[in-house]
Amino acid sequence: MPDIILYFGPLEFAAVALTLIGLTAIVLFARHRQTRNRERHRLLDSLPYPALLFQRQDLAAHNAAAVEWRESLDVRGLAADSLRLRHTSYIVRTIPAVEGQSFQARAIRLSRHETLLLLEDLAAAQRQQAFYRNFIQNVSHELKTPLTVIQGHAAKMGDAPDDREGWLASRRIIADEAKRLTQLVDNLLTLARLESPSFHLDRAPVNFSALLEEAILQISDLAEERRLALSLNLTPGLPRLDGDRARLKQVVLNLLDNALKYTPPGGSITMDARASDGRVTCSVSDTGEGIPPDDLPYIFDKLYRARRANRRPVEGSGLGLTIAQQIIRAHGGDLTVQSEIGQGSTFILTLPTKVP
Ligand code: ADP
Repeated sequence: MPDIILYFGPLEFAAVALTLIGLTAIVLFARHRQTRNRERHRLLDSLPYPALLFQRQDLAAHNAAAVEWRESLDVRGLAADSLRLRHTSYIVRTIPAVEGQSFQARAIRLSRHETLLLLEDLAAAQRQQAFYRNFIQNVSHELKTPLTVIQGHAAKMGDAPDDREGWLASRRIIADEAKRLTQLVDNLLTLARLESPSFHLDRAPVNFSALLEEAILQISDLAEERRLALSLNLTPGLPRLDGDRARLKQVVLNLLDNALKYTPPGGSITMDARASDGRVTCSVSDTGEGIPPDDLPYIFDKLYRARRANRRPVEGSGLGLTIAQQIIRAHGGDLTVQSEIGQGSTFILTLPTKVP
């Protein structure tokens, strides 16, 4: 067999070196593009409203909210204008959509060839503003009522300094109203904390059975005072939950407190807990007055209190269930209700046993 002689001179060496450098550059460039594309997709997915990324005239990426905008001529026209108007860093334009809705579209130039398009639903923004206006009105009303009572009784005490009985009655009313105000403000602060972007749960393994036992014990004196029977049915071996113990206890106590408030003497409150399919389900049932069907869809709304015709007044702010539901949802679970007027209510909370 003839020997093959390979001649490896400077030229060949240079060619191999150049090929290696070229291949490395291609690999690095491809990886850089891949990383950049991944980051862009992550950015688009993190946006709560429709977002589309154009490279030159072509749609390069979009998030799930922007699916129906892919073919929109208005959107493509805006992207093209943004690339044409080189000296403008961004353009804002209103784009009409279905059923009289309109979107505010913002085209932001990311580079010479790239434009990011963000679409904001103006109607949703207006709805949000109206909601907060309404909320502030309701909060102001809730704050004003006890303040008016306090002012009235303070004036009464000043007008009749010698009326000892009147004084004692006014002092009690002022103390009660001040307590109500403090509770309302505490609840508002809790809600603000829960809704803040920096809110986080203090998660740790939670022995849920022990938590429920503690909660029942905590309200047992009050239940006895109100002649209400309490019972707790725990399935043995309930798994530990990964959750924020203090917040979960707050939820359970809130549900029990409501059951105490809305169940007349002689009634009963039952708490059950069981586990299945990686979830723990806990229900708090009472034999109380129940919730009118028309009110049921709203009882988790902020400051909502159901109508209670011809019933004794019950203290409350209408924030407890909103807070409870937000805490449970932050844990990846849910809080729902079933109720029948005159028969009672059952609040059911489900929680995943592992971090979602
Ligand atoms: P509140 O401080 O008024 O109790 P919540 O947010 O805890 O506020 O509850 C909202 C409303 O839901 C209450 O005002 C009441 O009308 C209704 N509700 C809650 N729990 C019960 C219950 N166990 N039985 C009857 N009605 C209830």
